[in-house]
Amino acid sequence: METISHINQDLVFKKYIANPLENNIWLIYSQNTQEALIIDTPPDFEIIDQVLKQNSSLYIKNIFITHNHYDHIDGLGYIYNKISSAENVKIWVSQKDQNKLPGPFQNQDILYNYENYCDFKINETAIKFIHTPGHTDGSTCILIGDHIYTGDTLFPGGPGRTASNENFQTILNSIKTKLLILPDYTIVHPGHGKDTNIKQSINEYNIFIKKNKDLKKLSGNISWI
Ligand SMILES: [Zn+2]
Repeated sequence: METISHINQDLVFKKYIANPLENNIWLIYSQNTQEALIIDTPPDFEIIDQVLKQNSSLYIKNIFITHNHYDHIDGLGYIYNKISSAENVKIWVSQKDQNKLPGPFQNQDILYNYENYCDFKINETAIKFIHTPGHTDGSTCILIGDHIYTGDTLFPGGPGRTASNENFQTILNSIKTKLLILPDYTIVHPGHGKDTNIKQSINEYNIFIKKNKDLKKLSGNISWI
């Protein structure tokens, strides 16, 4: 089941929930031009087929990968093969996370690194890529209007899982300096589960920082509260 929401007068997005880990697939498109993009490609072929069938009038021109974990990238080959004959599809990923993409996607003709582009647009709306390392080195959040797609960097109630304390310190810094500075009303769409917003995340983060004076031992799955 997909849910449909508006980003602005032109852009609409749909959320699909996919296997293996209740991953969110985001389909965003311009009502004026029918140009579309997809954020993340979990390996759920049934849901991918559904996304493509229900939106067959759209032109999917870009696929944005938030980070290189299998549950976000292992459907890339499947979806790419289904749409690339109709479109010149570009695959976007951070340089730091591109090593885990399947071989054919290492080809620079279709692979675009966020680091090389400061601005990008879907029809009239600007898209901003925000590098937020910690969960992975190349984790990238995608800001479109007042909506940010955060992959596994920021969830309601906490940051994404981290493999070491160093990574935990890194994700905290990413969240604090790059996400919590966004306007309060910015809506946060994570890679799994429900939405939150920046105001709520700031409140939770502040509670967390107050009660944890020593952050040097923390890593793994951490909750703000
Ligand atoms: Zn992940």
